[in-house]
Amino acid sequence: MPLEFIEALPILETIENAGYEAYFVGGSVRDTLLSKPIHDVDIATSAYPEEIKKIFNRTVDTGIEHGTVMILDHGTGYETTTFRTESTYTDFRRPDEVKFVRSLDEDLKRRDFTVNALALTKDGEVIDLFGGVQDMSAKVLRAVGRPEERFHEDALRMMRAVRFAAQLDFKIDPDTQKAIAENAPLLANIAVERINVEFSKLMQGTSASYGLVEMIKSGLNRFMPGLSSTDQDLAAYAELLQIAQPADDSQAWSLLSFELGLNPQDTSKFLKLWKQPNEMIQTAKSVITLMNKLRLGDVNDWDLYQTQDAITTALATVKISEISANVDNLSMRYQALPIKHKQELAINGGELVKSLHLAPGPLFGKILADLEHRVVTGGLENERAALLHAAAEIVEKEKK
Ligand code: ATP
Ligand code: MG
Repeated sequence: MPLEFIEALPILETIENAGYEAYFVGGSVRDTLLSKPIHDVDIATSAYPEEIKKIFNRTVDTGIEHGTVMILDHGTGYETTTFRTESTYTDFRRPDEVKFVRSLDEDLKRRDFTVNALALTKDGEVIDLFGGVQDMSAKVLRAVGRPEERFHEDALRMMRAVRFAAQLDFKIDPDTQKAIAENAPLLANIAVERINVEFSKLMQGTSASYGLVEMIKSGLNRFMPGLSSTDQDLAAYAELLQIAQPADDSQAWSLLSFELGLNPQDTSKFLKLWKQPNEMIQTAKSVITLMNKLRLGDVNDWDLYQTQDAITTALATVKISEISANVDNLSMRYQALPIKHKQELAINGGELVKSLHLAPGPLFGKILADLEHRVVTGGLENERAALLHAAAEIVEKEKK
């Protein structure tokens, strides 16, 4: 049993001593059996939220209406959720009603995939009602129960299927696969933010290529913002992902935008559709600008400089892309730039006013921009006297 579980054992014991059942469930059980590192330990229990709160002194109501209470223990928070069943679904995304039950079996039945429907007792015994352990050794992702029903209940599960296949390097079971292809249009009912989470994880999975191909084959992308008629571009992206995968969301979405052939402005529009954070959008625009130049040939020092803090993402993205550029060389050239930001210029606006007796105005910006460009491209040393001298020359020229 990994340390994370051992540390949480007293929680299970305390709940059991109070007369209820408690188990480890979900991703942490799956990942342990796959010998992968685990992040959060989730607990399922027959105790109702109010009962949990009576047993433990320190709890936080993190999602009490769904039965989730966080138990705080020595600085660690454990999400503890009451066994529940979900009633009819009329909107393809939320149960009309969540009912707390006392039976683990009922709780495991509502979970999405067999490998996610395992429970672990405090003694290390695995409870496996749907053949999850066997699917795990065969590396198969299979919906619990009848897949079409499960995707009708919650259409996000189709995205989760391709995401887990990509992350776990599993193949999707044919019946599950068929149900995704048949129900793909239901994805239109799901909030873009939730699709985004799954798609981002998919692109970064070790088998991202397989997951993406499954996504295209089943037609899920036809119901995703900006991707409705991009099968060919996505297939080209999938080929790249066979060799290497993006290491973070910015790389993943920048590379996707590049493979879609978007210019910086359309990249911005595309990422806004997906409700990406502004910071990522700015990064992606700089990445795309540099990549589009690289695609046409070499870039100069000014291009590298203008990429600014997006340079790390840009170079990592270029490496995965089909652009054949010497990334190490580009990186060295960037490192060797005399300045990386405008603020590193050896003089600032205030000093210009003082030394040249200039009134603040448009000439100012022009002078600073000119100095910046010349310093970056090597025509001028980033040294106070040299910069002031060059500035004075510009002023003289302007006067004429
Ligand atoms: P990760 O490692 O990415 O967190 P996870 O399996 O823990 O993977 P979560 O989204 O954290 O995934 O969900 C925890 C568990 O809750 C899942 O393992 C699954 O049993 C159940 N679950 C989550 N989302 C759904 C869903 N949409 N439908 C059915 N069961 C779900
Ligand atoms: Mg989880």
